Amino acid sequence: MREYKTTETRILTRLICNCCGKVVALRGGIPMEGVCAVRQSWGYPSEKDGEQDSFDLCEACYDCITGQFKVPVTRTEQIEWL
Ligand SMILES: [Zn+2]
Repeated sequence: MREYKTTETRILTRLICNCCGKVVALRGGIPMEGVCAVRQSWGYPSEKDGEQDSFDLCEACYDCITGQFKVPVTRTEQIEWL
């Protein structure tokens, strides 16, 4: 016996770097290179209280932007659970 749940799924069909405009290649809705997805919800006491910003950066733009930081990005190794 099989039971299925009908769901509506969203599949990513196009991904563009907000910084340089590069179209990131996708396969089955999955980006084929590293992408930095930023989702920021602003709250009090921000002047953007109640607003949400979102943007994506290709890896080259991420490296370029973060390379200009006076304090470098904190980078640690991720533990992969197999
Ligand atoms: Zn870019």
